[in-house]
Amino acid sequence: MDDRQFRNVMGKFATGVTVVATQVDGKVHGMTANAFMSVSLNPKLIVVSIAEKASMLEKIKQSKSFSVNILAADQQELSMIFAGQLKEHREVQFDWLGGIPVLHGSLAQITCEVSASHVEGDHTLFIGKVKEINIVDSEPLIYFSGKYRKLAEE
Ligand code: FAD
Repeated sequence: MDDRQFRNVMGKFATGVTVVATQVDGKVHGMTANAFMSVSLNPKLIVVSIAEKASMLEKIKQSKSFSVNILAADQQELSMIFAGQLKEHREVQFDWLGGIPVLHGSLAQITCEVSASHVEGDHTLFIGKVKEINIVDSEPLIYFSGKYRKLAEE
């Protein structure tokens, strides 16, 4: 099967956009990710899928904790920054929730401790045990077929 065709098909699953963030050696590292989902209500677990080539992989292995920050409609530029699509370095504001960095202004913030990791093909699935959550009443950024979208008003 052709890789491009596979990516095209997976891209037809419309998602929100998150920035996964962690802190190692006093430095915050963020990475854009849409491979995120809720796993369990009791206990409260979520999963993110991180590529083996992503520098985030080693950072989460070291810190054993991370946040998932669901982006608001006006945060497309932050998604591009943390996907490495804007090359010049920008100062980005992080807040702190229970000692874990969370992205300022995001729609929802979830902090986690790694409870398990599973290597599957060229990605690692990190299961996060949810520690704290925070939510803001706002609209989400959407990703569909390789492009950013916003929800249409009714
Ligand atoms: P780097 O390439 O080192 O960092 C990414 C960028 O973030 C760099 O430009 C860096 O300067 C910047 N940055 C990091 N920390 C800070 C900081 N504190 N302040 C300012 N800038 C900072 N990949 C996956 O593995 N899983 C996914 O689910 C996934 N979903 C994606 C969804 C979308 C919509 C997009 C666009 C990309 C997705 N990617 C995903 C790809 C992933 O975002 C990129 O490959 C990313 O560049 C990998 O990051 P890295 O950890 O290797 O870090």
